[in-house]
Amino acid sequence: MIQSINPYTGEKIYEFQELSDEEIINHIEFVNQAFLDWKRTSFAYRKELMEKAATILKEKAHEYGRVIAEEMGKPIKQAIAEVEKCAWVCTYYAQNAEGFLENEYIKTDAFKSYVSYEPLGAILAVMPWNYPFWQVFRFAAPALMVGNTALLKHASNVMKCAELIEEVFTLAGFPKDVFKSLTIKSDKVEQIIKNPLVKAVTLTGSKPAGSKVASVAASEIKKSVLELGGNNAFIVLKDADIERAVKVAVNARYQNTGQSCIAAKRLLLQEEIASEFLTQYVNAVKSTKSGNPLDEDTYIGVMAREDLAEELEEQVQKSVEMGAKILCGGKRDKAYFEPTVLANVKKDMPVFKEETFGPVIAVVTFKTIEDAIELSNNSEFGLGVSVFTEDITKIRGYIKEFDEGAVFINDMVKSDPRLPFGGIKISGFGRELSHHGIKEFVNIKTVYIH
Ligand code: NDP
Repeated sequence: MIQSINPYTGEKIYEFQELSDEEIINHIEFVNQAFLDWKRTSFAYRKELMEKAATILKEKAHEYGRVIAEEMGKPIKQAIAEVEKCAWVCTYYAQNAEGFLENEYIKTDAFKSYVSYEPLGAILAVMPWNYPFWQVFRFAAPALMVGNTALLKHASNVMKCAELIEEVFTLAGFPKDVFKSLTIKSDKVEQIIKNPLVKAVTLTGSKPAGSKVASVAASEIKKSVLELGGNNAFIVLKDADIERAVKVAVNARYQNTGQSCIAAKRLLLQEEIASEFLTQYVNAVKSTKSGNPLDEDTYIGVMAREDLAEELEEQVQKSVEMGAKILCGGKRDKAYFEPTVLANVKKDMPVFKEETFGPVIAVVTFKTIEDAIELSNNSEFGLGVSVFTEDITKIRGYIKEFDEGAVFINDMVKSDPRLPFGGIKISGFGRELSHHGIKEFVNIKTVYIH
């Protein structure tokens, strides 16, 4: 059985029967069978269904948000906002997929030559629990609009969300098995990737999981897309609008109780403004409201699993032993971790070197913009960075110096259906969202007519 444990109450709330190997094989065959019809449907038809999915998500945002809050501890307001954002990505691809996938005519020696973008088949998505709806929809909306079909292996602690996501597509009128959630643990992923009917795989999660999935895919000569987290810096230069930077930096680190790949994990402050910034920042962090994820005014919930909170506690404790100073927070109670600010952080401490996947920020000061870039790039990860400054002309000259998938000036790093999302280094490869994302799982077919 696969269980969902409410991390706030510690109670078991759902239980699911794991699929047998035979059932897994059958489902893959059904999803492949569904592909053979789905790929021939028109964009107009797919668009109608995807827009219906968006409507259902909007109508049921409160109901689904509650399940997210109960299964992984996200504060209810943020959970509802997540479901509403899924409606946005569905609408975005419903309206734009056809244009993105139009034939691309290229002048050559031929009478006519062009590129035709065509679906591949059943795509496997291995997804995490931190944004249990969003991570799935940002894959599924473009994949289905292309004409692919989808198999979901969701994280084991959010299988009710997986069931509800499948419900969205069913209620929207998608043909049976165009989208199928598999109730399985991670040990079944390898055999699914190796099934000849599965054409490619995408994973969002940790480096070990990504490494394993990409290796299996590579051994079968199948494409993979990996989105594996980050250790984003949030840089505040001395000429920044401090009040706004403080506000955004709180949200950039603590929303979703810090469990986000693009969260600001390292706060880099220019020496001249460090003390003023930190006083305001610590006050703002202390005034965030922790509590029951189901309360409307809760901003910090609990972490999704107690073991994840324990791991974070270890990273903090080790860093404190090495000289980091707790300015606020630092304590854990089961899956709850106090919003924490750590100063005097050095490059060799776990809170600087490793991804901290919870409400903890590591503060480092720097002298020059060059020092800030060196600190920011001093990471195995390369997902994104935020820089706050009033001198846009000057900072634009430095953008190419950042080894990142995204550079955000005067805002937090965030995902937007219109912009590509993904990283370099061990943050992964490939892109989601925008016209780049929809072309990850297509056959880029060259057509040459003499
Ligand atoms: P995992 O990477 O273990 O889980 C993510 C998904 O991958 C889940 O569906 C999981 O299934 C599956 N998975 C895990 N191991 C394998 C494997 N060997 N083969 C195939 N699939 C696998 O993340 P955790 O939940 O353990 O979180 C640990 C850390 O991962 C976090 O602290 C954070 O650093 C990072 N992470 C990053 C995310 C991001 O947004 N980039 C999201 C979540 C986590 P199952 O649940 O059944 O194990």
